[in-house]
Amino acid sequence: MFAKAKKTIPGLIVFIMILAAGLFLARPRIIYGNPTGEIPFSMPDEIGGYKAVKILFCLNDQCAYAFRETDLMTTVDGEKKVADECPKCGALLSPVSIGEEKLLPNNTPIFRREYTKQGRPPILVTIVFSGIERRSIHRPQICLVSQGNRILNEYSRNFNIDKKKKLQLRILEIHQILGSGDDQETVVLPAIYTYWLFNPERETDSHWKRFLYMAIDNSFRNYRPRWGYVSISIPRNQTNPDAWNRQLDEFLPFLYPFISELREKLDEQRNITTVIDSSSAELNINQGEVEVKTQNPSSKDANRKEL
Ligand SMILES: [Zn+2]
Repeated sequence: MFAKAKKTIPGLIVFIMILAAGLFLARPRIIYGNPTGEIPFSMPDEIGGYKAVKILFCLNDQCAYAFRETDLMTTVDGEKKVADECPKCGALLSPVSIGEEKLLPNNTPIFRREYTKQGRPPILVTIVFSGIERRSIHRPQICLVSQGNRILNEYSRNFNIDKKKKLQLRILEIHQILGSGDDQETVVLPAIYTYWLFNPERETDSHWKRFLYMAIDNSFRNYRPRWGYVSISIPRNQTNPDAWNRQLDEFLPFLYPFISELREKLDEQRNITTVIDSSSAELNINQGEVEVKTQNPSSKDANRKEL
């Protein structure tokens, strides 16, 4: 009996340590990094000769097409305005896609523009920010697939930003599948989806590394800044399937300085403190002005409408 008790002691010690760590992190405490503060950023109107266009999404998940605002101009009573209904199916259009509305927590700040240049495929740039709530940033390997895309290949690649700086991006070769409803024609679009993640101090193309950094910074330093998640989508030309490489080589050195500047500005908020307790998810407010954020018409409300 004594031997048995001896065996259980290490397990018990580990259990007590986990419990203590949990209680330690759950106590009300002060964190640094201002995760609910202002995001001093707006998408640039031009990046390296590419012009910015706003994008609107169809909220019907059987259709889910994306449209350029410039293609949605209509004239109502002699006044030009942007259509608010999908030209394909008539559902409502929104600056936040249906996948984002479903998956992201309320108040997730999203910045997005499509960048177009004569003779080049368009480049869609999206930056999503985490607050206190960590679910704001998802592994695309999960949410791309849940939105009906297929991942064909995945790897990391380095890009030269300038003579000294290299930036590693995660590259996903995907098939976007649109219009899967019965009355819609299904369209398969080969595309590149690529991303990296940053906070004022760190940069990585690995979601696992981000989780590790967050755990270390949060547990040992009480440092919990916002993380930004930059994703870039480029349609893939079937006759020239590697052209996106050269396009990103050209585009990233122009995009990157905007992100560097943003990281410096976020770092200036480092000493702004927030008091949190175990129910920190309730603190997922966003104090800054943001062009687009998720609103999550909750499923409860949707059900109520049906009743
Ligand atoms: Zn539609």
